[in-house]
Amino acid sequence: MIIVMKSGVAEEDLQRVIHTIEELGYQSHVIRGTQRSVIGAVGDERGKARLQSLEALPGVESVVPILQPFKLASREFKPSQTVVKVGDVNIGGDRLVVIAGPCSVETEDQILETAKTVKEAGATILRGGAFKPRTSPYAFQGLGEEGLRLLAAAREETGLAVVTEVLKPEDVDLVAETADMLQIGARNMQNFALLKRVGEVKKPVLLKRGISSTIQEFLMAAEYVLSEGNYSIVLCERGIRTFETATRFTLDLNAVPVIKKLSHLPVIVDPSHGTGHWEYVAPMAKAAIACGADGLMIEVHTHPEIAFSDGIQSLKPAMFRKLMQEVTPFARAAGRRL
Ligand code: PEP
Ligand code: MN
Repeated sequence: MIIVMKSGVAEEDLQRVIHTIEELGYQSHVIRGTQRSVIGAVGDERGKARLQSLEALPGVESVVPILQPFKLASREFKPSQTVVKVGDVNIGGDRLVVIAGPCSVETEDQILETAKTVKEAGATILRGGAFKPRTSPYAFQGLGEEGLRLLAAAREETGLAVVTEVLKPEDVDLVAETADMLQIGARNMQNFALLKRVGEVKKPVLLKRGISSTIQEFLMAAEYVLSEGNYSIVLCERGIRTFETATRFTLDLNAVPVIKKLSHLPVIVDPSHGTGHWEYVAPMAKAAIACGADGLMIEVHTHPEIAFSDGIQSLKPAMFRKLMQEVTPFARAAGRRL
């Protein structure tokens, strides 16, 4: 339910409503708008008729149901676009944000050189996996803590904010000590224990879409994080599994306008995993901007031929610089600065 407060409501009245919501066994989530404040009351759907009676409290204008199953993620609850702050970078505003870096953190030279390269070309967030989810248990699993240390060194050197993946609830505190943003990978999109844990730590979250997940399931996964009180979530479309085998996944760009309609959360697109091949990254990056994405995530490697993971889809520095130039007019046409 959304409890819409009257404009200029007294703080005391607002607090009384929050208290009553919580006494009824619901969670309250407040959005303080410039015109008016609204309170989302979420919890067991069965007792929601009791919330209707809040209309009788002073300061309450109306009580309206949220029809979507993803309550806090929905535009019904929050009509205005959310802007997520990662370090000094805003995602969801008028600037198109480019996150770039290698699939895996491999060596100090590799991550430092890549960080400098992507920064010079215009990226504002550095990516790189220290803990890697791999299809094979025999494949490179990431440098772990050493990888986090190297990411921190790259941030120190370049000033770029850092996003890196966390695989397990018990690693969240450790990864959050270094990361400016926690990535939840496609394979973990419905790891509910992990979603709840990143919801508790209140660091920005980059949530990637599961390879077989519907948009509704994707937004329900975001709802897990939001329901813990962490509102800093960026959604990432990274391709879904279809019958097509010419590309690694099928980049579902439909998801961008659909999510924009259903949710207030920023959406970025990862054409590297979405296509699985460096040649297709630039065209799909342009398409992503054209359909309204708030940003891009691009894998870049100084020597893709010897990359520990995802070399085929990684751009070399020169290709990344070219991509940044080529996307500029697309960003401008979409009303964004780079
Ligand atoms: C990655 O970003 O390197 C990654 C493993 O992505 P995804 O979870 O989308 O496969
Ligand atoms: Mn990768």
